[in-house]
Amino acid sequence: MEVRDTGHYTEEYIPGFVEKWDSLIDWERRRQSEGSFFVDLLRKRGVKSILDVATGTGFHSVRLLDAGFETVSADGSADMLAQAFDNGVRYGNHILRVVQADWRWLNRDVHGQYDAIVCLGNSFTHLFSERDRRRALAEFYAMLKHDGILVLDQRNYDAMLDRGFSTKHTYYYCGEDVAVEPEYLDDGLCRMRYTFPDDSVYHLNMFPLRKDYTRRLMTEVGFQHVETYGDFQHTYREEQPDFFVHVAEKE
Ligand code: SAM
Repeated sequence: MEVRDTGHYTEEYIPGFVEKWDSLIDWERRRQSEGSFFVDLLRKRGVKSILDVATGTGFHSVRLLDAGFETVSADGSADMLAQAFDNGVRYGNHILRVVQADWRWLNRDVHGQYDAIVCLGNSFTHLFSERDRRRALAEFYAMLKHDGILVLDQRNYDAMLDRGFSTKHTYYYCGEDVAVEPEYLDDGLCRMRYTFPDDSVYHLNMFPLRKDYTRRLMTEVGFQHVETYGDFQHTYREEQPDFFVHVAEKE
């Protein structure tokens, strides 16, 4: 509970967790649960080139390549990118263009400008200081073309913080395979426990972003307009969405 550090993400996504995640969460089922929400949104806005800044094991990058977008796949973790590269070949016959880059220094390591940047899978929650969040958003902003968009999703932490923290609420990810439960929650830390069917347990520490706070930060770094959607049928179980998706327009 003491670890509230932005740089910690490289130690949390250890190979055991990453491999297990990928072997259990059937990509086809994940595709179905997410639907074509992101692809439709990007197509509607005439997007051609995309920078996936939170590639992870490659799920979104492969999906975007399948849909015909020119996609560059970045992540701060070399282990994740290695797995993403293999998954690109395995799931889509794609050779992913991968770049190892931390969001806080994105412009130093990634070149070019993009129609869209995607930061998906509740990834922005890994930043623990406001300074890092502002810095990352400013880097994303700078890498977009003048009419570019940032698409960033996050868990609905407002519901967790406001309703009171309860370990009784279990979020099932893609059906019943992985149980995701908050184990500890305060204004500065949400520690999630992931239990797999073989009873192995992993943890991730996250910063509980409030929806309006994320929107405000986006506006403050210069995005002109931010639209927020509730959920995309990802893990929707109750009247409240489990996820929010922000679409921030540069101009
Ligand atoms: N989009 C993918 C998905 O949904 O399957 C992967 C999301 S995964 C939850 C989050 C990813 O963000 C991890 O691969 C992690 O290495 C990366 N990440 C976290 N903080 C980062 C940072 N400061 N700079 C670059 N990558 C970071």
